[in-house]
Amino acid sequence: MAVRSREPRSPRSFLAPIPDGAALYARDVRDPTTSRLAAFGTTIFARMSALAAETGAINLGQGFPDTDGPTEVLDAAVAAIRGGQNQYPPGLGIADLRHAVAEHQQRFWGLTVDPDTEVLITAGATEALAGSLLGILETGDEVIVFEPMFDSYQACIALAGATVVPVTLIPGVDGYTFDPEALRAAVSPRTRLILLNTPHNPTGKVFTRDEMLTIAEVALEHDLLVITDEVYEHLVFDDREHVPMATLPDMWERTLTISSGGKTFSTTGWKIGWVCGPQEIVRAAMRAKQFLTYVNGAPFQPAIATGLRLGDDYFTGLARRLQDARDSLATGLDRAGFTVYPSEATYFTTVDITPVRADGDGMALCEQLPHLIGVVAVPNEVFYVDPARGRNLVRFACCKRPEVINEAVERLGRLKEVLA
Ligand code: PMP
Ligand code: GLN
Repeated sequence: MAVRSREPRSPRSFLAPIPDGAALYARDVRDPTTSRLAAFGTTIFARMSALAAETGAINLGQGFPDTDGPTEVLDAAVAAIRGGQNQYPPGLGIADLRHAVAEHQQRFWGLTVDPDTEVLITAGATEALAGSLLGILETGDEVIVFEPMFDSYQACIALAGATVVPVTLIPGVDGYTFDPEALRAAVSPRTRLILLNTPHNPTGKVFTRDEMLTIAEVALEHDLLVITDEVYEHLVFDDREHVPMATLPDMWERTLTISSGGKTFSTTGWKIGWVCGPQEIVRAAMRAKQFLTYVNGAPFQPAIATGLRLGDDYFTGLARRLQDARDSLATGLDRAGFTVYPSEATYFTTVDITPVRADGDGMALCEQLPHLIGVVAVPNEVFYVDPARGRNLVRFACCKRPEVINEAVERLGRLKEVLA
């Protein structure tokens, strides 16, 4: 039996891993966090949004819009609440939303999905990811992930007792790319799945069809599953093509596709997401998900169904408005002296800060920015397995009203002078 320490322990740093064996012998009520979470503190999004609130700065850190979603969608939620849709929905999600998700997959991506067995509604894409990873992974499995990566990936893989094997995206004047050889080299006998995010947070990269085919080839060759996070599927710019992994030859059978209504309908607080894929893989995700939230968001589910059935002009209009915001922000970041990596999609643009701050310390700059010029951004180092690889990179979000972006751009214009 484990011996429980009665001595007070000094608080450990959130970022310091627990030494081997310590979890067994030094557990106490003052700091009971599981060793699996020892490497993860408070998420960067909560920290940076708190800093924005504290300083009154413009929050271009955490990605959430400052306007409401379409009226039809909001009205449908109000009507559902008033109409009594306030109790537990079915475990798989309400039938109307599952049908709307299936119709959406057919309409936009030509995928035929059975709404009764191949769709599962979740508490946002976050729970879709957690349920899928916890439902599929065994202790000791390896998961290949392109880094930088959305922060919950590493934490959920750790909770499942598995290990992240990163393949690093390399920034360049034409955007981010990866070395196919690095992807092949990441595969080992322990690899269980590839976790992919396209369009990609935080880089704004849209994986090209050729890149997707390369990833598919590796998955097929080594008999791997693919989990693909496509929450930014409708936020794609400059007529670029989003290629869902499940549409590639022979990939439907081994792919779980995740998305959510948060970004597409500017309702990030509603947390309605979904998983689509072959029945057996969806069932694996369901078996974990049912013990996480069981179900969520009864009145928001029909509202998101309404959103998914809106006309094409809604989806194209959303992307066009964001593209304009991306352009204004990119111009401002360039004028501020940063090296700006082109964003092809999503809310986000990343920059190399070195021309502005020679020590390239992105975390320090993000802590300073709200005090210096009243703008909040996110340091990309938190999105890397080894923070050193993203130390000089910082992410700015453009999902705000034009007047807010213009004000942020004006403030960024003062940065060089303030730092001089
Ligand atoms: N995946 C990515 C890549 C994200 O950026 C986010 C954050 N919006 C999520 C998943 C989580 O989505 P949701 O808010 O629907 O849980
Ligand atoms: N997806 C959003 C971002 O990357 C925030 C999500 C969150 O706060 N968990 O900024």
